[in-house]
Amino acid sequence: MQKTVHIIGAGISGLSAAVRLANAGYRVQIHEATQQTGGRCRSYFDAATNLTIDNGNHLLLSANHHALAYARSIGTEAGLVGPKVAQFPFVDFTTGQRWLLDLGDSRLPLWVLDDERRVPDTGLLDYLALAPLVWASTSRKVGDVVSCKGTLYDRLVQPLLLAALNVDPPEGSAGLAGAIVRETLLAGGQACRPLIARDGLSAVLVEPAIKLLQGKGADIQLGHELREFVISADRVTGLTFGADDHIDMAQGDAVVMAVPPRAAATLLPGLKTPTKFRAIVNAHFRFDPPPGAPPILGVVGGLVEWLFAFPQRLSVTISNGDRLVDMPREELANAIWQDVCKAAGVTGDLPPWQIVRERRATFEATPEQNALRPGAVTSCKNLFLAGDWTDTGLPATIEGSVRSGDRAADLVLAMR
Ligand SMILES: Cc1cc2nc3c(=O)[nH]c(=O)nc-3n(C[C@H](O)[C@H](O)[C@H](O)COP(=O)(O)OP(=O)(O)OC[C@H]3O[C@@H](n4cnc5c(N)ncnc54)[C@H](O)[C@@H]3O)c2cc1C
Repeated sequence: MQKTVHIIGAGISGLSAAVRLANAGYRVQIHEATQQTGGRCRSYFDAATNLTIDNGNHLLLSANHHALAYARSIGTEAGLVGPKVAQFPFVDFTTGQRWLLDLGDSRLPLWVLDDERRVPDTGLLDYLALAPLVWASTSRKVGDVVSCKGTLYDRLVQPLLLAALNVDPPEGSAGLAGAIVRETLLAGGQACRPLIARDGLSAVLVEPAIKLLQGKGADIQLGHELREFVISADRVTGLTFGADDHIDMAQGDAVVMAVPPRAAATLLPGLKTPTKFRAIVNAHFRFDPPPGAPPILGVVGGLVEWLFAFPQRLSVTISNGDRLVDMPREELANAIWQDVCKAAGVTGDLPPWQIVRERRATFEATPEQNALRPGAVTSCKNLFLAGDWTDTGLPATIEGSVRSGDRAADLVLAMR
């Protein structure tokens, strides 16, 4: 008889597990609490800008092999687009300098040997001084392992680690930072090509997965929040969604719980999870990017950290954004627009805008919070965890989400 797997949560972790299991012949049932799929990685129509926007600008890198394999499995790898080589234009507001960080397309970080391709005003020794980060322990802070000052830090290490860890880098987990450095900078330009979901996160990473799953007979229920597990001995035997809404599970059926940490800890009392989170702020402006605007521009010394150019829209990302979550929206939009004008070389009054503040965008990637991340296995033999906050070895990223979903799916398959 065909076995059923219940996926709780339709974010990227849950969807990646679902796709893998549906492809392996499982009957998949997805239960999503909200009315939309995609979780923290989704698009929606925004009336203020009259555009479909993403909740946040999401950047993938060519090193994100699990994420790319997931996109391939749902037929949308071509929707992740970026330049052919790993080049990142930067502007420094403090000095007015602009440069192109050219990581090339090698499998080795040969660019650090070339004065023309390195960050301006840095030397080889600056890069070698980052070596202790590469294999640093997760229990140490970045600031305890490498120096967090100087030109290379300000112009490359800080922007990269702030974006990856979503905390001020010195307080971040050196082990997580090391994983990022190993998988990206150290792996050469081939691993660092920036990739963006050209037609929106939902169109590229979410809706095609739903379509594929439905084509395989999966049942996807929105507004279906799991309230309780029924557990007998060491197995989940039932799922309770409401007073009259209960599902009994058959022998051999399994559950992948792919919900955020707070929900997971409520559903599974005693589960250790991260408890602290950080915000990410995104601002979207309806404004045609100037001709030749790069798809992504790094900004040093500004309020804005990364500027993205989309058709009809300029968008910015500000990580570790807790200091901005209570700022009046219009004031924040104006302040960000000033930076956008400076960075993009445009002028004009504030165009139609939208600010999206995701208060719990990611768990806090500090050693303390990282130590609270559980693995995929639980005390129930047929219940597995997925989520960017589980112990993936990476900070909270799409790549980590897909890895966790793949791992949970593999554990379900191993039950057979
Ligand atoms: C603004 C922003 C910018 C980001 N930028 C990047 C980036 O540039 N690059 C990158 O790689 N990553 C980025 N991330 C991180 C990335 O979005 C996440 O790592 C990823 O989306 C997490 O997916 P998930 O499936 O683990 O969790 P979630 O997306 O949180 O999914 C969990 C799902 O479970 C559902 N749920 C909760 N409780 C229940 C319940 N009881 N029953 C049923 N369903 C339930 C939720 O509604 C949700 O849909 C960003 C995140 C944000 C917010």
